[in-house]
Amino acid sequence: MDVDVIAGNYAAVQERIARAAWDAGRDPNEITLVAVTKTWPAEIVLAAYEVGMRHFGENRPEELAPKRQAVEAALGSGSGIVWHFIGAAQSRKTDLVAAHADVFHALDRLKIARRLSAALTTLGRTLPTLLEVNVSGEASKAGFNCSHWEADAAQQADLLAAAAAVNELPGLQLCGLMTMAPWEAPPAEIQTVFRRTRLLAAWLQERLPQVEWSSLSMGMTDDFELAVAEGATHVRVGRALFGERQE
Ligand SMILES: *Cc1c(COP(=O)(O)O)cnc(C)c1O
Repeated sequence: MDVDVIAGNYAAVQERIARAAWDAGRDPNEITLVAVTKTWPAEIVLAAYEVGMRHFGENRPEELAPKRQAVEAALGSGSGIVWHFIGAAQSRKTDLVAAHADVFHALDRLKIARRLSAALTTLGRTLPTLLEVNVSGEASKAGFNCSHWEADAAQQADLLAAAAAVNELPGLQLCGLMTMAPWEAPPAEIQTVFRRTRLLAAWLQERLPQVEWSSLSMGMTDDFELAVAEGATHVRVGRALFGERQE
């Protein structure tokens, strides 16, 4: 893909984020654009870097590790790039996530947290981590079940217990929530899921004030403006920057 095309896409996405932020009375600088480069080769990351992108998102550990290595071979380790791991970390792959991710968006099980913590402790690394919450209630979605969190005491208790346990684990630094919008839902419904996720973070902030629940990772190519309207601090955008994936 041409660097000029990527530059144009980048400018267009940044402008859409800025407009959505202004409409919501927010400062666009509060929002980190995570460029999702999954399935794209390291050369695309380098082109994106050249036009100014610094935050990259990957969803498979076995893809992140060699891609990061290739990019660092070209740019050195002081490039300023932050690698966001946005997929599920299966337990067999936690060592790779611990070694190569700088931020983990999708912690959805205590078992994974324990494995990551052990690996991070060995490596002497700290990993800022977001809990993935399933607010839409879709069965196909990962994340802690928060489908009726406002009214369901069991869901509240489960999430609080998990968050408190994760917060005790060395190496993991809890910093917020991540969610996925429902598939093919009307915009109002998607926005409601994002709003309920923001309110859930505020709810957690009151009950677990020792954690800073400040990161809200929500919004992708089809819905990032709705997410910005509802307080997203990280939007994870692939296709609007790089085009359709070949998968
Ligand atoms: C692929 C992916 C994205 C980016 O999706 P686009 O529709 O290409 O913007 C965002 N978040 C997660 C978790 C993903 O797996």
